[in-house]
Amino acid sequence: MNEFELIDQLQAIVNGPALAKLPAGSTGIGDDAAVLSVDGRRQLVITMDTMVSGVHFPADAKAADVGFKSLAVNLSDLAAMGAEPAWFFLALTLPAADKQWIAGFASGMAALAASAGVVLAGGDTTSGPLSITITAVGLVKPGDALLRSRAQAGDLIVVSGTPGLAALGLFSFQHGQPVEAAAWRAFTRPEPRLNLGHALHGKATACIDVSDGLAADLGHILHASRLGAELHLDQLPQAPAMSLLEPEHRWNLALGGGDDYELCFTLPPLLQNELDGLSRLAGVGLTVIGQTMAGEGLRCLRTDGSEFTPLRAGYDHFRQ
Ligand code: ADP
Ligand code: MG
Repeated sequence: MNEFELIDQLQAIVNGPALAKLPAGSTGIGDDAAVLSVDGRRQLVITMDTMVSGVHFPADAKAADVGFKSLAVNLSDLAAMGAEPAWFFLALTLPAADKQWIAGFASGMAALAASAGVVLAGGDTTSGPLSITITAVGLVKPGDALLRSRAQAGDLIVVSGTPGLAALGLFSFQHGQPVEAAAWRAFTRPEPRLNLGHALHGKATACIDVSDGLAADLGHILHASRLGAELHLDQLPQAPAMSLLEPEHRWNLALGGGDDYELCFTLPPLLQNELDGLSRLAGVGLTVIGQTMAGEGLRCLRTDGSEFTPLRAGYDHFRQ
């Protein structure tokens, strides 16, 4: 059973056969965050992500980096929905009450909380193996949320930043190789693309954040929108730190690496001329990497038109 089959089984039992008892216009399980209608003026956008020591970050990671990233990955899901972040809740499980560690953790978190304008509104504290769970809450105007399910055939596929850079940082670290500063920064301090998500209202037809690998996450958009797509490997954006890598290694990092927390979105081709403006507004590079089409599945094409299959389709916590 993989991670997604597990979630399906869980929700079928817990929610029962009558499944979605959500009000019209609300979305529950299946997107980057739930979109819940409360009144006619705004919808709550709620997401939750956990980071576990030794799984999501090395056991000796800097406390400030852990604090920053555990909030960043949650704000990234709000960015993917185009939501304006508002509050968050922190469930902290710690092996010991280490004052110095907490101070570092809190300062890393505070830096991002301040720049994103979110307030810590509650949580829970327990002792046990180091694990951080955050619930982040944002707001959108009704109908404004960027869902995974509304891409149209013929839309351009666009990605922000340079997917694969964070995975390169982790790869170098795990293989005892020198780690490029930019790659380590991308892995430890991912910047949630909140301005981009906000700027995509009324423009992007679908959006997701890239947490598990570009191929898998784009795959979620395609599955939810019942489409196929072609991705052109020579169009994948390249960070300088990646330029010396063998192409196949670079593609594997970009497509299957994960931990990028960039946004991948679909855009009607008529809006292609808005990409420069969007990029300036969001403060991040935007690259067209392919196009959606009728059908199903994602084909990653080399320059000669041959198909490349990434080593790993994406991260799955329960892969067998
Ligand atoms: P993301 O990578 O964007 O954080 P996930 O892949 O973790 O999303 O989750 C996919 C979807 O499944 C989300 O809508 C999430 O809310 C839902 N989900 C994940 N785990 C559970 C769970 N234990 N119970 C209910 N829903 C879950
Ligand atoms: Mg996500």
